[in-house]
Amino acid sequence: MNTLLVKNIDHLATFDDARRELKDGALFVRGNVIEAVGTTSELAHLSADRVLDLGGHLVMPGMVNTHHHMYQNLTRVMVQDDELFVWLTTLYPIWAELDDEAIHISARVAMAELIASGCTTSSDHLYIQPNNVRLDSTIAAAQDIGLRFHAARGAMSRGQSQGGLPPDRCVEREEDILKDAERLIQTHHDRSRHAMTRIVLAPCSPFSVTPGLMKEAAQLARSHAGVHLHAHLAEELDEEVYCRKTYGMRPVEFAASVGWLGPDVWFAHAIFLNSDEIRQFAETGTGMVHCPSANMRCGQGIAKIREMLDAGVSCGLGVDGSASNDTSNLFLEARLAQMLQRVAPNRYLSEAPGGRGGFGGSPKALSARESLVMATRGGAELLGRDDVGHLAPGMSADFIAVRLNQLGLSGTQRDPLAAMIMCGPFKVDYSFINGREIISRGEFLDFDVEAALAAHAKVIRRIYRQ
Ligand code: ZN
Repeated sequence: MNTLLVKNIDHLATFDDARRELKDGALFVRGNVIEAVGTTSELAHLSADRVLDLGGHLVMPGMVNTHHHMYQNLTRVMVQDDELFVWLTTLYPIWAELDDEAIHISARVAMAELIASGCTTSSDHLYIQPNNVRLDSTIAAAQDIGLRFHAARGAMSRGQSQGGLPPDRCVEREEDILKDAERLIQTHHDRSRHAMTRIVLAPCSPFSVTPGLMKEAAQLARSHAGVHLHAHLAEELDEEVYCRKTYGMRPVEFAASVGWLGPDVWFAHAIFLNSDEIRQFAETGTGMVHCPSANMRCGQGIAKIREMLDAGVSCGLGVDGSASNDTSNLFLEARLAQMLQRVAPNRYLSEAPGGRGGFGGSPKALSARESLVMATRGGAELLGRDDVGHLAPGMSADFIAVRLNQLGLSGTQRDPLAAMIMCGPFKVDYSFINGREIISRGEFLDFDVEAALAAHAKVIRRIYRQ
């Protein structure tokens, strides 16, 4: 197996258990696994097939994106000024025209965008599968570009005629969804350490599937090791109204009633949780992914990240779909998470000892490092992975490097790690995933960005003609 020594790293942020940050750091990689982490002089005795000098760079673990709808980069900047339910009902008919080629090409572009901005592991929640769409084409895209991928078999089964939000032609039959989920697990799910592909089961939301499907998906996932569960929850007050009216329950009560609380479940958004529900998440190990751009874009509200972290809830970051975020950049989400938490009218914080009293915000609400922990270790935890999210011996060789000598980073020598989000976002100059060099000196090595964009533009012309 090939070995790689990365040395002279100006600032190596490991995010390991001790949160070590090393000056003049080094990494030794054998194949797809990190074998040693230390300073350049500590690792000087190791000889490698290849030596990469990353003087002038910051190196950190590749980030983990835990909520996305990649196909939505086909419908960016639409419905700019309306709330979620209007946004959804406008876009559903366009998405109904998608086919497998559109899904494959949009995923390729989305993955390139994620990797260029520092992500090395991503989930994708594909909840609309009209025409000949299959999740396999997104998995193929990930394998081609080299992204570590948790493909979430999303689904909608409750159309308008059954009291759901999506048009009937966007939904699938529940037996077909479950059969396809089983097929995907058998075909693609790899439970081994350093796996590049895992399957997630992900009915879309309480207002687009039935309780029966939620229960059966949970049962199916739990009969296969390492298959996790994902859905949207408590994203909108309209959803809470829907749950009360339809099920006579709050969204978290609904989730509990269908067996959807546990360490194998993570929800997107979880904005409208009260303190009891936050405790319930912590006690059951249920995770949440915070998507600040999308929450701001749709004017939804601010998730109580500070209170959740203090309660012990597993929190990660997600870019959310490209149509409700319009960017897909985890550094940016980490920045916005930090900033947004600080302006939140946070009763929990303001009533804590030393708080301001009343409902003001606080600059102590979330630090840059806490936000970056969510983007790395936090996301890994949501996906059930102990092999990515930090840099230590035995971990997957997933790391990124950002050049420090560039506009926007001047004067940050004292804390280049915080600068990644407080001054950014920045693009990566190097990205290694599972030991494979994907980006070198700021360019993809085996991926033609121009060709992918041209194919994407062609799909757009075809879809909109229809
Ligand atoms: Zn979403």
